[in-house]
Amino acid sequence: MNEKKGAILILSGPSGCGKSTLLKEVYKQIDDYYFSISTTTRQPRVGEVNGVDYFFVSKEDFEKDIEKDNFLEYALVHGNYYGTSLTPIKKALEEKKLVIFDIDVQGHELVRNKLDSIVTSVFITTPSLKVLEDRLHSRNTDNKTVIENRIKNAKVEVEHFRNYDYLIINDDLEEASKQLVSIANIIRIKTKLFDKNSIVSSWL
Ligand code: ADP
Ligand code: 5GP
Repeated sequence: MNEKKGAILILSGPSGCGKSTLLKEVYKQIDDYYFSISTTTRQPRVGEVNGVDYFFVSKEDFEKDIEKDNFLEYALVHGNYYGTSLTPIKKALEEKKLVIFDIDVQGHELVRNKLDSIVTSVFITTPSLKVLEDRLHSRNTDNKTVIENRIKNAKVEVEHFRNYDYLIINDDLEEASKQLVSIANIIRIKTKLFDKNSIVSSWL
């Protein structure tokens, strides 16, 4: 009766809105998930670990992977390449996991076009641009030019929020985490994830 597919949860939102912080809270409260570790050509931030936060590679290696068709999706974001490798995603979906992506608006569109029936997406933002700027500064991980570039991109990214299924304004962390946990739980029982024949035949 429970023969159902894996599902994909995509989170996007301006850099600094709190996606990673929210995900850390959510992971304490859900199970049977797989977080998609992206590959990037950007430099690691202090404290970031290769293979945990990202796979950090050179531009040459990234471009080789593009040529070999190794990515489910990839995009240039803030001047660096970021991409999702296909193989671990396929495996996690075969294991019927909830696969979680933290990707930008371009990546969302690409994955949505390829795997629409199993995708649910959430756009996350701050209550205002000012709050975003404050968070980027207080995170203290990027220099002034990088922050300015991220703020410029944020203004464009926010325009896309209506392409997403849900919007979370990450003001109060506890409230926003609760909303994200609710979404992560409820999408596991979307009708599209169940195999019609096996449900009907086991029911009759
Ligand atoms: P992202 O992953 O979207 O780039 P982060 O999770 O790194 O963003 O968060 C950016 C900064 O904002 C961090 O310093 C984090 O501690 C802080 N932050 C995240 N959510 C909140 C919140 N709800 N209230 C206050 N600060 C927050
Ligand atoms: P950061 O450098 O702050 O970690 O991430 C910058 C942006 O890149 C964020 O908007 C994040 O969602 C996006 N991003 C991270 N990994 C990927 C990926 O694999 N593909 C795409 N398209 N965007 C990504």
